[in-house]
Amino acid sequence: MKVVAIVEERKTGIFDIPKPVPGPNQVLIRIHACALCTFEQRVFTQMTKKTLPYVGGHELAGVIEEVGADVDPKLFPIGSKAAARVLKNCGVCYYCRHGQENLCKGAYAKSAAAAGTLTPNGLGEYIAVDANQTFLLSDDIAYEQAVFVEPFACVLNSIERGKIELGDDVVVIGGGVMGILHVIAAKMSGARVILSEPDPAREKVAKSYGADIVLNPKEVDVVAEVKKLTGGEGANVVFNTTPITALTSQAIEMTAMMGRMVQYSSMHPDNPIEVSPNYIHNSEIIITGSKSPSIKAFDTSARILSKKIVDLAPLLTESYSMEEADKAFERALSPETYRVMIRF
Ligand SMILES: [Zn+2]
Ligand SMILES: [Zn+2]
Repeated sequence: MKVVAIVEERKTGIFDIPKPVPGPNQVLIRIHACALCTFEQRVFTQMTKKTLPYVGGHELAGVIEEVGADVDPKLFPIGSKAAARVLKNCGVCYYCRHGQENLCKGAYAKSAAAAGTLTPNGLGEYIAVDANQTFLLSDDIAYEQAVFVEPFACVLNSIERGKIELGDDVVVIGGGVMGILHVIAAKMSGARVILSEPDPAREKVAKSYGADIVLNPKEVDVVAEVKKLTGGEGANVVFNTTPITALTSQAIEMTAMMGRMVQYSSMHPDNPIEVSPNYIHNSEIIITGSKSPSIKAFDTSARILSKKIVDLAPLLTESYSMEEADKAFERALSPETYRVMIRF
């Protein structure tokens, strides 16, 4: 089978590797599409160093082709469309046993992505994954929508951390693809959604997905503006979807008393910020984060997208063949695109 691997900075190659054989508890998925996440983009530019050649890809969707001996084919019918959570979790650590397997210490080490060699991953024709990490999708779902199961699951995990209540004011900082997914999920949760984003093209997309107010941080003081819009209180929930630490300080500043600030994006570089301990004391705000998708968030995402409760296909801006992988990565890095996928 063929895989796409990053071979050097800003260069990929196609390799032939043995087709995986599903283990007794595994499912073999014939991958049809895989989107390029920020993580793989960082390996492509070598901002994140990995042993090369490196086969990335975790936003995959395809069709079940074969199941292992111990997998019930009635539960995982051959020919069904499916997405897979490629982060494995140990199942026995404190986090796994307390319903937060997204924080499992062993998760990344056990995933194919950690191998950093020519092992099957999302950017290839086949992957064997544990049945309990395989999520069935409706037959009529388009791959342009199906590849969002993983990124939308990440966002749903973040939304769960935010504990939005009906009628809340929610601020989303950053209107990239993850910011837009936060806008969508916050709207579904019954909030008034304020997006902070300077790009007019992204503003348009956010509004098409229901953003109530878009503030341009180049033109207005976003903290002051949010306070004005909320009677001086601030927002009940603020999500920082950008990797900009100064905006984390801003996010805390605009969080109302009893509110939640969720740091969604990871930080590169991870510069420390100053926080007023007295503000935390007096306001009882909760400062938290969100990392990777939980199994529950993955399942919810697969259900929402299968039922077409939201249509994310417009956010899949470009699609390329394996041979065009270099271009796909370059385009994924461009601020003009939201998600870019490779077809297999
Ligand atoms: Zn991802
Ligand atoms: Zn664990």
